[in-house]
Amino acid sequence: MIKLLNEYLKERFGCKVYKLALNGGFTCPNRDGKIDTQGCIFCSAGGSGDFAESPDMTIHEQIESGKKRVEKKIKNGKYIAYFQAYTGTYAPIDKLRKLYYDAVSHPDIVAISIATRPDCLPPEVLDLLSEIRQIKPVWIELGLQTIHEKSAKYIRRGYKLSVYDEAIKELKKRQIEVITHVIIGLPGETVSDMTETVKYVCNAGTDGIKLQLLHILKNTDLAIDYEQGLVHALSEDEYIDILKECTKVIPENVIVHRLTGDGDKKILIAPMWSGNKKHVWNRIQKEVLV
Ligand code: SF4
Repeated sequence: MIKLLNEYLKERFGCKVYKLALNGGFTCPNRDGKIDTQGCIFCSAGGSGDFAESPDMTIHEQIESGKKRVEKKIKNGKYIAYFQAYTGTYAPIDKLRKLYYDAVSHPDIVAISIATRPDCLPPEVLDLLSEIRQIKPVWIELGLQTIHEKSAKYIRRGYKLSVYDEAIKELKKRQIEVITHVIIGLPGETVSDMTETVKYVCNAGTDGIKLQLLHILKNTDLAIDYEQGLVHALSEDEYIDILKECTKVIPENVIVHRLTGDGDKKILIAPMWSGNKKHVWNRIQKEVLV
């Protein structure tokens, strides 16, 4: 039986814990020209952080604003500062130091979680993360999406699988927890391709996994391919069936952080059924988590 994030957080921190999506004002090497200028094929203008707070506010202001948004859902809980938008380790080290320290110094923050790319973890960043880890837990979320080079090329990920392997090794060496993002429904991937990816990251030592349905969002190159009939958007039944297979290969010690997509409905083109989160979650509970 897989372990879901909420249950794990309650066990670990003794209360309900909510992730607050912050914005450190980062960019991404896959957009600023260091690797590419186009970005990953599915990535929205918000750098996959469409729910994050505004980078114009200080980190403490963003935390307070995020807390206000969720205050009805969480009473006497704690929070994880989640640097979600763009590449959260891709900035000068002094800027990173200030952002991370600002986040961990907030009394309601129990951990920080940073979404990044495995090719954006140079030694000085790893050292900084180790330093922060002495204060509060640090989670690094790696957007791997797939182990298959053909798909990686199509989505313009911009790094090889070996870069992920090396990053996870370095992070684990420093006892920094790793969460790996995997996309379900990449064009041309079979169910067995997707379960292979899930198996691979679990064996590589990831502490957590996010399975995210491929969303086709407005103003992305993926949307152009979709409109030209080159991309199939998964049906709800297909997605549930794939989840059944993928969750079978996740061991109990790997925490499942997500089993759905998290696309902004305002920019979602397909699959539209995924916008009905309550209904999808009910099906997952009845058909996948049994
Ligand atoms: S690495 Fe992340 S932020 Fe950069 S283009 Fe890809 S999905 Fe977007």
